[in-house]
Amino acid sequence: MKIKPIVAGNWKMHKSLSEGVSFVDKIQNRILDKEKVKVIFCPPFNSLFSIVDVLDGTSLSVGAQNAHHESQGAFTGEISVEMLKSMGVQYVIIGHSERRHIFGETDGWINQKIHAVLNGELTPIFCIGETLVDRQMSQTNEILYHQIKLGLEGVESIDAERLIVAYEPVWAIGTGETASKDQVEEAHGYVKLILDAEFGHSSSEVPILYGGSVNENNASELIQTAGVDGFLIGGASLKEDSFCSIIDQVTNYYKG
Ligand code: PEP
Repeated sequence: MKIKPIVAGNWKMHKSLSEGVSFVDKIQNRILDKEKVKVIFCPPFNSLFSIVDVLDGTSLSVGAQNAHHESQGAFTGEISVEMLKSMGVQYVIIGHSERRHIFGETDGWINQKIHAVLNGELTPIFCIGETLVDRQMSQTNEILYHQIKLGLEGVESIDAERLIVAYEPVWAIGTGETASKDQVEEAHGYVKLILDAEFGHSSSEVPILYGGSVNENNASELIQTAGVDGFLIGGASLKEDSFCSIIDQVTNYYKG
């Protein structure tokens, strides 16, 4: 079975409540073929609840950008998986490079979060990726291996419902520099190989998204790259025309 492609938008810390709600409303009216692609909006916490409400009854989904691994407690500024779930959120981005590099999230902490999300029966969008220095030192595979191994430690089984992986080279995030077709193909192939070695056959339909300066001009080539099951998009997911164009290109390719 061909994996249903995914286009996920990570808004980071952008859009007010009213901007977010009206954006999602416009996009959902513009997507004609909602069944062919899974679209996931990941707004900041201010608009999660209202966006879930706007998308209620549609096939479009909502994800959070982070969650704490504990279910409750004295963790000022944090939110738990249970809280997200009670709002109707279905996905949680875990291990985004900005969380790793700006907020100091370690592989061990990311692993705790992955377990919390899975125990809460939400789906983690688990981000991995090498820095420019890692790549220049030919350590990309080693970094990906360790991030997967440590991030998913103790996870017994994975399948398409329980995990989405996003390969996001750090040097391509928000820089306008996209990984080449060959680099993406090689990294996705390697991620698949690790998942298969660690989890066996059940991992074969785990979607592997590419993220890193995807836009309306490169989406078509990237979606045709072997091993790419969709995108995690930052900057271009904030612009109506760009995001819709990317969704259309992914839809057309998978229809084809
Ligand atoms: C991201 O933040 O996950 C991302 C891929 O950002 P951008 O598309 O802006 O590079």
